[in-house]
Amino acid sequence: MVVDPLEASRLLKMLSNEVNLQILSVLRAGSFNPRELARILHRNETDVSRRLKALERMGLVEGKWVRIGGKNVRMYSLKVEGVNISFRPEGISIETSERKEYSLPLSGERAPEIGDFFGRKGEIELLSFSRERVIAVYGIAGIGKTSLAVKVFPEAFWYQAEETEGFDYFVWQLGIHLNALGFPHLLEYLRAGGRNERDEFELALRGIEETGATVVIDDLHKCGDEKMGRFLTFLAEGLKNGKVVLLSRERPSLGAENVLYLRLEGLDVKSAYRLFKARGGKADPGEFAEVYRLTRGHPLAIVLFAQASSSGVDASGNFFDFLMSEVYGRLTEKERLLLQILSLFDEPLEYEAIKALYPGRNVFAPLYALTRKGLVERRGELYFIHDLIRGFVESVREVEPADYYEAYIGYLLRKRSARDFLRAFKYAILLGDEDRIKALIEERLRKFKRVVQDFQGAYLSLLSKAPQIPQVRSEMGRVYFQRGFFEKALRIWLDVEEKLDGIFRADVLSSIADVYLELNDFEKAEEYLGKLKEIVGKKPDPEVELWYYVIKTKLHYYRGEVKEGLESAFKELDVAKRLGHYPELEALVYLHIGDVYSEMERPEEAIHYFLLALQVAKAYSLSFLEHTCYMELTKVYFHLGEYEKAVVEGDRAINYFTRIRNYRRAVDTLGYHFLALIGLGELEKAEEDAKEMLRMAQGSNYPLAWAGYIFLAVIEKLRGGNWGEYLRLGRERLGDYPWLYEAVLEESARVVDVGEFKEK
Ligand code: ADP
Repeated sequence: MVVDPLEASRLLKMLSNEVNLQILSVLRAGSFNPRELARILHRNETDVSRRLKALERMGLVEGKWVRIGGKNVRMYSLKVEGVNISFRPEGISIETSERKEYSLPLSGERAPEIGDFFGRKGEIELLSFSRERVIAVYGIAGIGKTSLAVKVFPEAFWYQAEETEGFDYFVWQLGIHLNALGFPHLLEYLRAGGRNERDEFELALRGIEETGATVVIDDLHKCGDEKMGRFLTFLAEGLKNGKVVLLSRERPSLGAENVLYLRLEGLDVKSAYRLFKARGGKADPGEFAEVYRLTRGHPLAIVLFAQASSSGVDASGNFFDFLMSEVYGRLTEKERLLLQILSLFDEPLEYEAIKALYPGRNVFAPLYALTRKGLVERRGELYFIHDLIRGFVESVREVEPADYYEAYIGYLLRKRSARDFLRAFKYAILLGDEDRIKALIEERLRKFKRVVQDFQGAYLSLLSKAPQIPQVRSEMGRVYFQRGFFEKALRIWLDVEEKLDGIFRADVLSSIADVYLELNDFEKAEEYLGKLKEIVGKKPDPEVELWYYVIKTKLHYYRGEVKEGLESAFKELDVAKRLGHYPELEALVYLHIGDVYSEMERPEEAIHYFLLALQVAKAYSLSFLEHTCYMELTKVYFHLGEYEKAVVEGDRAINYFTRIRNYRRAVDTLGYHFLALIGLGELEKAEEDAKEMLRMAQGSNYPLAWAGYIFLAVIEKLRGGNWGEYLRLGRERLGDYPWLYEAVLEESARVVDVGEFKEK
């Protein structure tokens, strides 16, 4: 396809936009619904849809309507593999083609832009040729760390550390970046909810190694997350390819040897003078000597000096503040107001946010002026103000922070993404506004369910700043639960239960019942389910009703009360439909219904519901659910005696769960996959499965994996070999889990005579 000139420039513009490139690179993995894409990229769904439509108009992606359960769902996939730009005598032509490749550096979310760059020859050389894989550049604010790193590593993935976001957010962004470079595994792992520290570290390391990526972490000193520290030490010890560059005020201590440390000082006098002149400074070299003596080549100070009236400076007080007050004095009212507003936020702000915050009409003019004067810096779509300048502006500030924080919270919530939710939460905490905090938690419960999974660390650290609020404590419990600390979560919930009402109390009650279920205490679970029922009866709220039925189904299912379970599962479906368009939930409910049918030994019906779940999961690109469906199907097909189908579905699930390191599900599937192969008489392949289970048993502490020994015994028995030793090993390993042993024999009995395994 050849596009006309106007279109061509639009296309180029589109391709030079980071977010568009990220979308295109994620689409490489398959087709996606805008909602899931928005979740992966932590962006607003409307924004993502808009971009997809634009990309579609340009012929880069293709949208299709798919019909799912009576609704039309839009799915997007890549239409071309690349774009070809050629320079011809008659002009530039751009072709999007199926065959040709294009590669554009993806530079992370906010790579800073630098203007003229002066000096630093020695440092550039040192950094370019260093053999160490981890480099730490440190020095005082404004000394030029960022500028130097951009100069040496222009194509790096750029991560701007922030106080609240921490490792969770970093690793997700890194996942997106590595995915764009052709390493999808980290992103896939995170999307599936994997949050094991070791796995995250290893996948990130492997991703950087294999893609040779360069990662810059700017303002590392702001990141208070210890996990980041552990990660960097891990990298320093293991990285052999690729590069990690750390910029920080203080010298970071990584406790590893292979780190190059560079302490940055001011510019040499010649480069300093060139910078001074380039920024409009008026002084001859003789006069500049005094400026240099005062600034010692500190670039930011020199930039400011160039704007102040260059003559004498009172060096007795704080020199920098003196300089700033002079520069500040020359700003217009509007510029001052804008600078003051920006100084309230310690994170970069996007243009739209600034527009929403600025009371006047034309924000562009003062913003542009401040950027030109070097007081505000631009990074991609974001604007921010240097810490040194912020410090000064804070001291002369006249605006009321609370007003602006309120406005910012409103702006963020309109964007409807998990990340913006977290930001809003941060400002609500900062304001100490209890009502706001509670309202936000309610939003979290209803709309941002993923926050607890995707941003555990960041959310917890915000919550821990307001532990006196019971709703906040209950949320902390939720994070602990997510991390597997059931008892700790339970203690908190039991403690706050009485202090809450409405949806908050409903949330805690269903959570308590859920923990008791996990701990196999059915009586207690039932007691709390009863309390929840009272709330459901009082005031109809589909969200709460849904929680009620989900727990109820689970309770009946665990107790083997399949009829009641089924009834409750259909109630779930009812409520899910009333809750409206909510694909993830719908798929889950279908799975629950299928599970119960499967337990009732009604495989045909089970399959029907698993396939419905599968259809929804695929349409919305919910990979984890999709593969859970394959896992369930493996089991029912096996029970139906359709071994070939069981093997096909099993292969899909095993591959995926192994890749995302969810060994539990991988092992559960392997068990049925093995037995299906036995049913087909494929002993050799089955043997591989048994061995794979044992490998997983070593690495995880999932007891069922040791059933691999029993399966090896099965193989030996069928081959007429000596099976006693394998059986003994299997029994020994499963010794603490007699019911598992029983279950394995029971399922095996469907395809092989294991009578002797019982007596022995
Ligand atoms: P840091 O990251 O250490 O806080 P920056 O890199 O942001 O410092 O630099 C502060 C200011 O000084 C920026 O506005 C930048 O443009 C300018 N600057 C720093 N180093 C140089 C250089 N070598 N050449 C030109 N300008 C520089």
